[in-house]
Amino acid sequence: LARQPGNGRRHRLGVMGGTFDPIHHGHLVAASEVAGRFALDEVVFVPTGQPWQKADREVSAAEDRYLMTVIATASNPRFSVSRVDIERPGDTYTYDTLRDIREERGDDVDLYFITGADALDQILTWRNADQLFDLAHFVGCTRPGVEIDTPNIAQLPQERVTLLEIPALSISSTACRRRVAEQEPVWYLVPDGVVQYIAKRGLYLTPGDQ
Ligand code: ATP
Ligand code: MG
Repeated sequence: LARQPGNGRRHRLGVMGGTFDPIHHGHLVAASEVAGRFALDEVVFVPTGQPWQKADREVSAAEDRYLMTVIATASNPRFSVSRVDIERPGDTYTYDTLRDIREERGDDVDLYFITGADALDQILTWRNADQLFDLAHFVGCTRPGVEIDTPNIAQLPQERVTLLEIPALSISSTACRRRVAEQEPVWYLVPDGVVQYIAKRGLYLTPGDQ
C-alpha cells in the first residue's frame, strides 16, 4: 500500500558505482540485499569512466563494462544502468556521479549510495567530501567474519551513513579476470550472459593484465 507510485512517497533510488570489469554475483547480491533492507524502489548501476584508483592495470573499454552490466541486470525490473560516468570525460568522482543522477532524476528522489565499507572509510579523502552527504545516504557493505579497519567512519555524519552486513560471497572481479586468463571457468560466478559476452569479445585473455 505504502509503495504505490503517486501516493506522495518519495522514490528511493540506490546508486551502485563500480568498475564492473566484469560485474559478478557479489555485486548483484549486495545491491539486492541493500534494496531489501532500505526498501529501495530501484537500484541504478553506474560503471565508472576512467578509474583513477586502478591506473596500475588496463581497464576494459567502458562500452564492454557497460554492456556486461546491462546484460547482468536486464532480468530485474528494479535494476537499471546509467551511462553518466562513462560519458563524462576524465576521472570519475562520486560527487559528480551523484550530482548527475540527481539532475537526471529530479529532486523527488532520495539517493542511497552503495559501496564497500573500506571504500567508505576513505570517503573523507574523496573530492567534495563535505558536500557528499547533502546528496545521498551512504551504505557501507561489510561481510560476516571480515574485520576491516574503518577508523574514519566514526567521523562521518552518522545520520547519513549505515554499515550493513551482507552475506559473504567470496567473488571479486580480479579473481574472475584471473580465472579467464588461466582458462578456468567463471560460470556461476558471473551471470550466464556475461560468461558468453566475455568469450565473444575475448576479454581478460592476457595474463599479467589482471
Ligand atoms: P576488483 O577486484 O577489480 O577490485 P571488485 O570485485 O571489487 O573489482 P568493483 O567494481 O571494484 O568490483 O566493486 C564495486 C563495488 O562492489 C565496491 O563497492 C565493492 O566493495 C563491491 N563489491 C565487490 N565485490 C563484492 C562482493 N563479493 N560482495 C559485496 N560487495 C562487493
Ligand atoms: Mg575492489
